[in-house]
Amino acid sequence: MTDSRKVMEIIEKISYRIEEEKDYLTMLDQPIGDSDHGINLARGFGAVREKLPTLAGKDIGTILKTTGMTLVSTVGGASGPLYGSAYMKAGMAMAGKQEMSLQDFLAMMKVFVEAVQQRGKAVAEEATMLDAMIPSLAAMEEAAAQGETPGAVLDAGVKAAWAGVEHTKDLVATKGRASYVGERGLGHPDPGATSYSYMLEVVRDSCA
Ligand code: ADP
Ligand code: MG
Repeated sequence: MTDSRKVMEIIEKISYRIEEEKDYLTMLDQPIGDSDHGINLARGFGAVREKLPTLAGKDIGTILKTTGMTLVSTVGGASGPLYGSAYMKAGMAMAGKQEMSLQDFLAMMKVFVEAVQQRGKAVAEEATMLDAMIPSLAAMEEAAAQGETPGAVLDAGVKAAWAGVEHTKDLVATKGRASYVGERGLGHPDPGATSYSYMLEVVRDSCA
C-alpha cells in the first residue's frame, strides 16, 4: 500500500493540511474548550515538518515514533499526549518496516486508536476524537474484509470519520475540557474528531 518515503510525504502533507485548517480547528474549540486545538496541532506538526529531513531513509516505525515524540513535546493541551502516544505506538507497530501493506495499515490503526483510549481513558460516545476514530476503524476493517481495494477501504474510513464528527454534535462530553460546558456543547462538532478526519483524508488522497 505504501512505503517509508511515502509515509514521510503523508506526514508532511498532514502538517500542511493542519496548518490550512488551523483557524477552523481553533474556532471549533471555542464554544466547547479554550480555542487552541488548531494552534496546538499546527505548532506540533510544524515541529514535525522541521524534523522530516533528518528521517530520510529511516524505517516507517522510526518516522512515526519521531512524529509522536515531537507531538508530545510541542503540542500543549490534551491532544498532544493523545496524538503523541497514538503516533508513537503506531511507530512501534511498524518498527523496522520499510513497506506497509493494507493489513499492516489496519493493524497499525488499531494500535493508534487503542493508544488514545489507553491514554485518555475515554470510550465511544463521550464526544472526543474517538467518536471519529472508532467508527472509521470499524468501517475500514469491514471494507477490507469484503476484499475492497486500499483506496476504497480508506474512503470508507474517511466517510465514517466525518459521520462520527457529525454525531459528536449530539453527544454531551464527559471527558476533557468539553465536559466543563456540559449540555451547552450540544450542536458543536468535536475539534479532535475533526482533526483526525483531516489526517485520514490526507492518507486517503495520498494512497488513492
Ligand atoms: P485541550 O482540551 O487541553 O485544550 P486541545 O484543544 O488541543 O486540548 O484538544 C481537544 C480535543 O482533545 C478534544 O476535541 C477531544 O477530541 C480530545 N480529547 C480531550 N480529552 C480526551 C480524552 N480523554 N480522550 C480522547 N480525546 C480527548
Ligand atoms: Mg483546547
